[in-house]
Amino acid sequence: MLRAAALGLVLLAMCLPPQAFAVGEPLHLTTGWEYRWGDSPFDEKGVPLWTQSLHQDDQWQSIGFPSNPPGRARQQNAWFRTTLPAGEWRDPVLYIFSVDLITEVYLDGQRIYHYGTFTPEGTGRFEGWPWHMISLPPDYAGKEIYFRIWSNYSDIGLWGEVKIMDRPDFYLYVLEQSLDRLVVSGFSLLIAVLALIFALVQENRRLFGSVGLFSLASGLMILAESQTAQLIMHAPLVWDFITAGSYYMLPVAMGLLFEHWFGDRFRRTIRSLWQFHLAYVLGALGLSAVGAINLSSTFPVFDALFVVTLSILTLIVVARFRNVEPLQRRAAIAFGIFGLLLIIDMAVAHGFLPWQRVPVTWGALAFSVLVVTIAFRQYYDTQKALRHLNLSLESKVFERTAALEKLADRERLRAKALAFENLKASILNDVVSELQDASSYTTAIAVLCHRLPELSHPIPGAFFQLEEDGKFHRLAEWGIDLERNDHLVFLPHVLDEAPKASPPPSVSRGMTASDQWHFPLSIQHAGRGSSIEGLLILLVSEVPVVDIQAFTASQLYHNIKGAIEKITVTLSGIRLMEEFQQLSYEDSLTGLKNRRLFDELMTHHSGVAQRMNSDLSVLIADIDHFKTFNDTWGHEAGDEALRQVAFALQDSFRDTDAVCRFGGEEFVIIMPGADLEHACQRAEDARQRISHIKILHGGRNLGGVTISFGVASWPRTQGTPKDLLALADKALYLAKQHGRNRVEVAEPSAPPVDTP
Ligand code: GH3
Ligand code: MG
Ligand code: MG
Repeated sequence: MLRAAALGLVLLAMCLPPQAFAVGEPLHLTTGWEYRWGDSPFDEKGVPLWTQSLHQDDQWQSIGFPSNPPGRARQQNAWFRTTLPAGEWRDPVLYIFSVDLITEVYLDGQRIYHYGTFTPEGTGRFEGWPWHMISLPPDYAGKEIYFRIWSNYSDIGLWGEVKIMDRPDFYLYVLEQSLDRLVVSGFSLLIAVLALIFALVQENRRLFGSVGLFSLASGLMILAESQTAQLIMHAPLVWDFITAGSYYMLPVAMGLLFEHWFGDRFRRTIRSLWQFHLAYVLGALGLSAVGAINLSSTFPVFDALFVVTLSILTLIVVARFRNVEPLQRRAAIAFGIFGLLLIIDMAVAHGFLPWQRVPVTWGALAFSVLVVTIAFRQYYDTQKALRHLNLSLESKVFERTAALEKLADRERLRAKALAFENLKASILNDVVSELQDASSYTTAIAVLCHRLPELSHPIPGAFFQLEEDGKFHRLAEWGIDLERNDHLVFLPHVLDEAPKASPPPSVSRGMTASDQWHFPLSIQHAGRGSSIEGLLILLVSEVPVVDIQAFTASQLYHNIKGAIEKITVTLSGIRLMEEFQQLSYEDSLTGLKNRRLFDELMTHHSGVAQRMNSDLSVLIADIDHFKTFNDTWGHEAGDEALRQVAFALQDSFRDTDAVCRFGGEEFVIIMPGADLEHACQRAEDARQRISHIKILHGGRNLGGVTISFGVASWPRTQGTPKDLLALADKALYLAKQHGRNRVEVAEPSAPPVDTP
């Protein structure tokens, strides 16, 4: 309560102009100090004898400042004294920055102040390092002030400043001294809170956790060390615990930060360092709290360890300095400055350097701010990189998906194309085998016309065939909507121009509305090459794209071309067979049936005649003196004569009669159902007709030829119908004998005698 009122007063005083209360200037007590080791005896009233004027001796020795007098030798008790000067102060107080460790203050034999509790043996225990404000009585001037001190710490006595000043001045002074610390600690704590919150909400826990820990430690340390802390809460030992805890945590937080920034090479060393310091914090605070050790005694040990740690960290920073990024370099420089300040502060604390205020506070703040800036900068960079990575990943995934989809599409199309090809291949096989089964070329063409729509589905088209008039006639058409496609006038019933194969489409070109593919069917002939006998026209532009999109135009074209070739080969085979068959029964010179057919026909007709008991006549004709004709006019003229005689013979008999060339200049005629008279009549007609032929060759009239006939008829003759040929031959022999150019009949024989 009192303390709050004092703080309020101070704040109020700060608002007033300084001359409102300032009477005497603050005065440093730097002269007239004396000391003596040991503790004073006390009289029965409890007054220390050493403070009484009666008890003056020459044990007191002069000292510049009441601290660490020479010749301590493990002594824990000492006394200091000086004479208080006169001054203009209205409400004078004696301000002492710090005391090692506990003290009682005497003036005029009166204890006017004490900090800590002395035992009857004159010892005590550490109770923190607060500042001290000792109120002086009005008649203090010129009197001696005594300090009874106990310390088991490395230092003994007063420490820092010792000043007389007016009480308001003192409060102002305290506040002035702590203002920077309050500001800095507030700021550091704010940073700590932010960093810790940040550590909780985002990924980079370690870095922000370390930053938060460092700021928290330095903020608390600065606050606890500030002189105002004592005004806020008068619990010096608590503040000292806070100071120790936060101060000892500094290397832990630093180690964590260093592990993050420079830990690529010295991770294990750095980790061991901070872990060791963490253990030290826990050990020192724990043992002090249970009273096993003095908190004060953990400070010098820590300072020594801290110096070692700072040195190792400095070496690491120096070793890694060139290899790290600019941000880390800045952190390293800040660390260097802060570390130096810490070491100077330690040197001051341990009396290696004269007492002065070291701006550790500002160093800590600068380090905190820089560290937090770097952390945020790194966070920002990481986030940016992550965002970038995400974006590029996303786009990669997108690309890859698209590629896979494309691949899948292509596979689907391929499968579709394969199915389509298989279907067409099986239809084509069917068609080809149906064609092969066809009894003639004409039937085969009919089959083809019937199957082409199915084979070329879904492509509409038409099929043309070369007819006897030398023009191509449309035999079939399918899938063509002529009403809708009036541009398809190219499909007349008769195609005048000679069909030409359309060139294969280029791969890159798609199918256009004008795509009409022409596939001529070139059929092979026996002995006279091949000729175009058919034409398939396909309207590719009419195809619903979806059906054949699996193919490029070029693929489709070549597939169809392959099918047409297969069909053409099959048709050519049929046509060749047919032609060869014809050729083998035909005499090539005269076009009459040949000896082979004659033999087959003879067997057939004689069999029929015998079975049916029907008439059958056989005639043999031989051109007279044909050798002479050949010799006279040449062989070619002879051939021409043979052709004309053959034509006349063919023309002289009915279609049902078989006129055959028997060989050389001899002919045979089978007349099924003709009796002898009828046969003789026909022979006579033919003979006469031939005798009138004028053979023209090479622009010359070569005159004529005559022919002799031998006739035989069954059943007029003896034997079986098979014997007719021999009989007719005999008759011919007779005709030659009897002068040629005549018809002779085989002797009619008596009907066969039935043998009993
Ligand atoms: P004959 O009145 O007794 O029948 O007398 P010929 O000369 O007709 O009888 P021969 O058997 O002595 O002669 C037949 C001739 O027919 C011999 C051959 O030069 C001719 N010859 C047979 N085949 C052909 C052919 O394909 N072309 C031509 N130009 N002559 C043929
Ligand atoms: Mg002959
Ligand atoms: Mg002859």
